[in-house]
Amino acid sequence: MSKAIGIDLGTTYSVAAIIEDGRAKIIKNAEGENLTPSVVAETAQGYKLVGSVARRQAAANPERTVISIKRHMGTDYRVSLNGRTYAPQEISAFILRKIKSDVENYLGEKVQKAVITVPAYFNDGQRQATKEAGVMAGFDVMRIINEPTAASLAYGLDHEDIQTILVWDLGGGTFDVSILELGDGLFQVKAVNGNIELGGDDWDERLVDYLAERFLNEHGFDIKSDKISLQRLREASEKAKRELSYKPSTSISLPFIRTGKKELKNLEASIDRETFEAITADLREKLLGPTRQALADAKLTTDGIDHVVLVGGSTRMPSVRDLVEKTFHKKPFIKINPDEVVGIGAAIQAGVLMGEINDVILVDVTPLSLGIETEGGLFSKIISRNSTIPTSAGQIFTNAEDNQTVMDIHVLQGEREMAIDNISLGQFQLTDIPPLPRGKAQVEVTFEIDVNGIVKVSAQDLYTEEQTGIKIDASHLLSDEQVEQAVKEAEAHTEEDIKRRGEVEVNIRADNMIRAAESMMEEKREKIPASYLRQIERAILNLKEALAEGDSSVIKAGTEELRKLLGKM
Ligand code: AMP
Repeated sequence: MSKAIGIDLGTTYSVAAIIEDGRAKIIKNAEGENLTPSVVAETAQGYKLVGSVARRQAAANPERTVISIKRHMGTDYRVSLNGRTYAPQEISAFILRKIKSDVENYLGEKVQKAVITVPAYFNDGQRQATKEAGVMAGFDVMRIINEPTAASLAYGLDHEDIQTILVWDLGGGTFDVSILELGDGLFQVKAVNGNIELGGDDWDERLVDYLAERFLNEHGFDIKSDKISLQRLREASEKAKRELSYKPSTSISLPFIRTGKKELKNLEASIDRETFEAITADLREKLLGPTRQALADAKLTTDGIDHVVLVGGSTRMPSVRDLVEKTFHKKPFIKINPDEVVGIGAAIQAGVLMGEINDVILVDVTPLSLGIETEGGLFSKIISRNSTIPTSAGQIFTNAEDNQTVMDIHVLQGEREMAIDNISLGQFQLTDIPPLPRGKAQVEVTFEIDVNGIVKVSAQDLYTEEQTGIKIDASHLLSDEQVEQAVKEAEAHTEEDIKRRGEVEVNIRADNMIRAAESMMEEKREKIPASYLRQIERAILNLKEALAEGDSSVIKAGTEELRKLLGKM
């Protein structure tokens, strides 16, 4: 029997999932991504682009790029591309067609049936337009379901007694609150509210303002007055914001900001989570108004809410999660990735309609991150915790030593920054790597976790295609208490772990700089003036001494000095 796809057709991203072996699974698109940007574009030559390729060229081709079409579904808004006019459902159909074709390529068979999600506040016209988009893309649309309902289905909340669920969906540009009654086959929307002008972008903008002001005070130049620098600052701020969801502090480095005709300056700043939370406190406050209104409309108080479910990438911010706990006196459901939970729920609904699912719990996730030990004893995560399984991911590593022909692969799980603080799952060796200078070998390490939680780790030398690996069986997986303990420990040690990782990275950079200087001197000794040669040799010696002493700030300064000297050359 052919499959049915669950599709979260989102404003910024869309997600596709299916049921495989009784479990919901996100299907990666042709680009290997879980999330497909909901962006459609046309080139000057008339070629349609959908997803990441369309998004990447958006800045250069704004008049032929369509973003956020979902905001116009069911209206008479029209888009013109190369002189042809399109209705919103036609644009959405391009996105759905790409999803259909990517899933068909993955499955190796045609798929016809789909469940597509819409916001709970969508009216009949908007729902009808979404269905039409599905039909235009070649789907038999089995059902249009509400996004908050899908998220609740993903958590299996429909299997419990009737209960009241509140869903906070905070994406990039919008915030939705929904209150549902769910259970015993009943799905009822009790109230919806929200703010269509509140989303992760506002948090980014706060960071942009904060950094621009610091730069203005330091260099007397307003970065925001320069379009290109502003765009770079926006991207760096969004990245820093994401990092602050996992780290207590982060740094932003933007070299070569043009501040005058010939003048270039570097933006170097660090920000901690506390400061970020302080400058965004009023944005968090804005989540409460629509929530109060939805509760009032449903004739409920916070005590009447049995569960809170979080949807949307921006609910990863710890301060948003804390606000849920403070407001509702309960922990929110966060086990499933907030940007995948709606797609997973849609697949479950599709599975139920196809008779593939009866009463089983369908969503399994990796309880802890998996990865390998890398240079300096660091833990390099390859699959992050809470990824839905089955899943696979890989990363390319290189040799830490010159002429290294053997690579030890140490597989670990956990959340700590140093390998030694995590749980060891096994070790193996990749041999016969051709002898190459440090940093030149390319070894791809791939992790695959199947539906039963069996982890297969393999390493392949990309030059010789030599491959080896190990299989770690599910008996290594931990009890809930052990997982909780590991996560708690990582949280308790976050600051010191990050400091230790920082120190190791400083040492690795210093080591690399010394090697680069030494090999440059070997190659060009004759061409370098003697006085200059001595300066470099002295700087190398100083840096080696600093490494032996182990003071990070001295090592950093020494590396910088050597970098400047080599730069002059
Ligand atoms: P969505 O529309 O649900 O995909 O949400 C996208 C928004 O989530 C963007 O504003 C992202 O910057 C934000 N986002 C994604 N991951 C994180 C994270 N780890 N911490 C904070 N915000 C995030």
